[in-house]
Amino acid sequence: MSGSVIKHARRIVVKVGSSLVTAGGRGLDHAALSRWAEQIAALAGQGKEVVLVSSGAIAEGISRLGWKKRPKSVRELQAAAAVGQMGMVQAYESIFRAHGLNAAQVLLTHEDLTDRTRYLNARSSLRTLLELRVVPIINENDAIATDEIRLGDNDTLGALVTNLVEANCLIILTDQPGLYTADPRKDPEATLVMNAHAGDPELEHMAGGAGSNVGTGGMLTKIQAAKRAARSGAHTVICSGREENVLLRLAAGEAIGTQLISRQETLAARRQWMADHLQLRGGVVLDNGAVRALQEDGKSLLSVGVKGVVGEFQRGEVVAIVDSEGNEIARGLTNYSASETRRIAGKPSTQIEAELGYVDEPELIHRDNLVMLA
Ligand code: GLU
Repeated sequence: MSGSVIKHARRIVVKVGSSLVTAGGRGLDHAALSRWAEQIAALAGQGKEVVLVSSGAIAEGISRLGWKKRPKSVRELQAAAAVGQMGMVQAYESIFRAHGLNAAQVLLTHEDLTDRTRYLNARSSLRTLLELRVVPIINENDAIATDEIRLGDNDTLGALVTNLVEANCLIILTDQPGLYTADPRKDPEATLVMNAHAGDPELEHMAGGAGSNVGTGGMLTKIQAAKRAARSGAHTVICSGREENVLLRLAAGEAIGTQLISRQETLAARRQWMADHLQLRGGVVLDNGAVRALQEDGKSLLSVGVKGVVGEFQRGEVVAIVDSEGNEIARGLTNYSASETRRIAGKPSTQIEAELGYVDEPELIHRDNLVMLA
């Protein structure tokens, strides 16, 4: 495909990384913020809806507090985020206002996106803001997040928000021109990937391999974000935020950076929500017959096909469904808790009552409540 997918996008999520917002950690880059706000205002003028996912709270907090280096303790990072978020949002607010746009701060946590009711609330609030032509500025609520419950990096958050608001495209602005076929610092033959299919397994190798420790904001998390966004049918562009008028040029159809196309059929919203859970509390291991029934015959999951239960979960929670090699092939809303599932595993549905003393549903996970991942 030549040209940019952004041209025809109506709803766009723009993710800006910390190094761009804070000029490499030396305080907010007001000029850069201003340039993006100006471009977003112009896109709004073209009838496009834009959600901004901005990192930089922690980096800005560290700078405001006069700290020489990034602290290690969670409580200091939380404090830095709380200080820095103020500065960041204040800067955006005044810049957007100068361009005649209202902006709104929305801070999300992992739980806001996994709890179904909170997820729906977040979705309706963001959609309302977009209808009101307001630019939502989103970040993780770092002031209360701890390592165990973090979304982690804003590339992932950008993809989750893309799915949440059903945006057509995700633009990840970074300090690199895009994805290279290999690390350009090490390999002189490396070339910029301009177009690829988001599902292409080669992308992970190019980004440094699935096992590489590129950490927050590395190319690998961007590739994974593109794959995640592709599940709701959204295309992703990874490009340099330092390119002049980058958003306007993309919207005019110019191909800049790396474009990762979604070819997937869009998942229904509830299945999307299940697929987007980052951490699950447990899962069930299936025998090969049950794997086939799910993958080839489109069946529900019955207790008879379960040969193992991992972790602890309650009825109504989203659980992982894994094959005997440990690959997660699907996930779904379980009708039975982990302890109940342990008792009925390997047994036909007709024995559920004898085993538990009651039957909630004949299926462990009904097909309507299941999303296939492989
Ligand atoms: N939410 C963090 C912040 O605003 C950044 C996370 C990231 O950049 O991936 O400082």
